[in-house]
Amino acid sequence: MQEQILQDLWKVAQGKWESGVLPSAESLARARASLPTTLPATGTSLEAVQRHILDDIVPAFNGGSISPNYYGFITGGTTPAALFADNVVSAYDQNVQVHIPNHSIVTDVEFRALGLLADLFRLDRSVWHNGTFTTGATGSNILGLACGREYVLRKAAEKKGVQVNSVGEFGLFEVLHALGLSGIQVLSTLPHSSLVKAAGVLGIGRANVRNVCRADNPLHFDLEQLEKELARTDKVSIVAVSSGEVNTGRFATTKEHLLQIRQLCDKYGAWLHADGAFGIFARILDDDPEFATVRQGSEGIDLVDSITGDGHKLLNVPYDCGFFFCRHPDLAVNVFQNANAAYLTAGPSDGPVIPSPLNIGMENSRRFRALPVYASLLSYGKDGYKDMLQRQIRLARGIYDWIYDHPEYTPLPVTSSKSDLLDQTFMSVLFRATDDNLNRELSKKINDTSRMFVSGTSWDGAPATRIAISNWRVDVERDLKLVTGVLAEVARQ
Ligand SMILES: *Cc1c(COP(=O)(O)O)cnc(C)c1O
Repeated sequence: MQEQILQDLWKVAQGKWESGVLPSAESLARARASLPTTLPATGTSLEAVQRHILDDIVPAFNGGSISPNYYGFITGGTTPAALFADNVVSAYDQNVQVHIPNHSIVTDVEFRALGLLADLFRLDRSVWHNGTFTTGATGSNILGLACGREYVLRKAAEKKGVQVNSVGEFGLFEVLHALGLSGIQVLSTLPHSSLVKAAGVLGIGRANVRNVCRADNPLHFDLEQLEKELARTDKVSIVAVSSGEVNTGRFATTKEHLLQIRQLCDKYGAWLHADGAFGIFARILDDDPEFATVRQGSEGIDLVDSITGDGHKLLNVPYDCGFFFCRHPDLAVNVFQNANAAYLTAGPSDGPVIPSPLNIGMENSRRFRALPVYASLLSYGKDGYKDMLQRQIRLARGIYDWIYDHPEYTPLPVTSSKSDLLDQTFMSVLFRATDDNLNRELSKKINDTSRMFVSGTSWDGAPATRIAISNWRVDVERDLKLVTGVLAEVARQ
């Protein structure tokens, strides 16, 4: 039975997604009605539990990662190699917590997988082979701001000639008080909501995440305003770059901008963080005119102090998986050390110095989530991932091209020419219906077809719709036909 079920699941993952991208109302109702309301005293057979899950619960799932036409959020999918590895992870249930080289290979594999990711993103290993795997970009943003919090206060202490105290050790309040500071601020342009959440978690405060954008473009830094904020004497600052803004998929900076921002951060002792959850993948692209503008947006990311990346989006490994790179190897341990547990520190090793994950990230016990990453990277290589991303970008551009010419739709952000719009397009398509009544209902009408799924969002104070293309199964010709077919049909209604 179990063998059979695993084989069936494998087929589900390999095969075509036949049903709609959303479950039917009946499936949802049936699944809800099947959920027990109390814990029974005695268990049922494994077979009965399996049947319940497969027959009642699974039909009420959405096509999120399995359908190539689920364009909501940014969900990615699961490559066959990642799916295999993820099942191995569950079967062997290794805990990647402490590096004890004689007990298990898992910390070595995790460390190598991080190095392979650095290679994929053209990050110099001598600087960037430092960081860890997380549960996602939110987790990585927390790590980035936490390291930044240590760093900017250390810099402020140096400047004042005061003894340096760690926030991890003494707490934010005591350290700020000793330095005569009123707080930390995070300066950004159109940051992802999770960055604001990270500021809340870390005692920086959601209200202290501030936009410092230009009046003519909400994604571009106003460097004058940025310098004014960095020069404040009552607060210290972390600068967070949206290396991939979640609605438009566009980049906040080019290399030239980032160089200027880097210089300002150095001048004022600020930390520079890049949220590249999906945007860092633009670094996979070749120096090819077709993708030049997108690639330029990801250039210079290697000038920052810390980088957030997501595994369960464009890397197409299953939930949950993110990664974090940091150029300062000594910082994370100040925040995340597992104090008073000397028996849990790293054992000796002949190879590279591999830190124990529990001292540089949030969890103690951790899933071996690096194995699907490792497997998928080996299975596709640089070229495989480049090919996947190129198909995603070409589909996004094909959709924009069609929308631009369609009188019922308006592509966003409003652009001066079609070629400019297409040049800047990564893997997201943001648009609205020209007619206000249709626009209010647009995402719902598209999703009601159950042939594709989109996210409703807001842009410039009005509803907008976003198609985010992130699945490894993308097929430009097939999917363009489906998407434009649905959009044409919805416009006619
Ligand atoms: C998705 C996303 C996040 C949050 O990522 P999770 O993996 O959902 O935690 C953060 N930043 C950006 C730019 C994103 O696109």
